[in-house]
Amino acid sequence: MDLNTIRKLERPASAAEITGWREGNAWLAGGTWLLSEPQPNLDTLIDLQGLDWPSLEASPAGLELAATCRIEEVERFKGPPEWTAAPLLPECSHALLMSFKIAHEATVGGNICMSLPAGAMISLTTALEAVYTLWPRSGALRKVPAIDFVTGNNRNILAPGELLRSIHIPASALSKRFALRHASLTHLGRSAALIVGTQDKSARDMLLTITAATPRPVQMHFATVPTAAALRRAIDERIPADGYFDDVHGSADYKRHLTYHFAEQIRAELAR
Ligand SMILES: Cc1cc2nc3c(=O)[nH]c(=O)nc-3n(C[C@H](O)[C@H](O)[C@H](O)COP(=O)(O)OP(=O)(O)OC[C@H]3O[C@@H](n4cnc5c(N)ncnc54)[C@H](O)[C@@H]3O)c2cc1C
Repeated sequence: MDLNTIRKLERPASAAEITGWREGNAWLAGGTWLLSEPQPNLDTLIDLQGLDWPSLEASPAGLELAATCRIEEVERFKGPPEWTAAPLLPECSHALLMSFKIAHEATVGGNICMSLPAGAMISLTTALEAVYTLWPRSGALRKVPAIDFVTGNNRNILAPGELLRSIHIPASALSKRFALRHASLTHLGRSAALIVGTQDKSARDMLLTITAATPRPVQMHFATVPTAAALRRAIDERIPADGYFDDVHGSADYKRHLTYHFAEQIRAELAR
């Protein structure tokens, strides 16, 4: 869509060139949301593509994703055999409602910074215990656990002008067992629930990450795989009945039902 309030498009070679920040500025990543509706409050777009950050770098420490990495690159990534949880990368990528245009242009950072409940890259990186590196316009880089980044529907901890620079997924999380369950009301529709369980090499614990069904990700760690009743109690303690996300992609009751149902399936799978 034509954004007729935009007066300026900046293409810095380094984000350090952008020192001040004005209301009216916005970082432009893939543009799949930014260019999809009027942005009357914006007059300047600052394009991240010229920064030329390497998209994906695998090392013994884990996987480093630039914020500008495209979701289709995540989808295609194949990890070493010991990264048993690497199939979560394509599985979460497929959970995003993607026309071919979105698939080719949307970035990991844009998806995370949109901070929608159905943000599949949020599901992926929270479940895999990622750490985000944030780059404020003034001051030092800061690191935050992925699980602390999103604070509500379309809300996060970014300060004005602060950039999501990169996402580090530790090898320890990539080497876990996992179980994933996902549902949406329509084929390729926006996620109503995307729930992931992971388990370390001890095959005793369970890390459960609930996304899409709630306005922000909810994570619960169990030192040993709980019983079905204990799991249900733990979910109720963390998510009150009115704590589910109600929108056109599914009522709160439906998402609560999916959460119980999928969490129990994941529990049973990881208990085996
Ligand atoms: C038809 C349609 C369906 C969609 N379905 C989904 C869906 O199912 N789930 C979902 O989560 N989203 C969905 N979206 C929204 C959006 O397309 C995706 O979230 C996409 O991943 C955004 O990535 P992008 O790179 O295109 O971001 P952009 O549109 O370029 O930017 C999105 C926002 O993030 C900011 N931003 C981008 N990168 C950074 C950064 N590195 N640091 C700080 N701020 C940054 C931008 O300023 C902007 O506010 C949909 C959009 C459309 C049009």
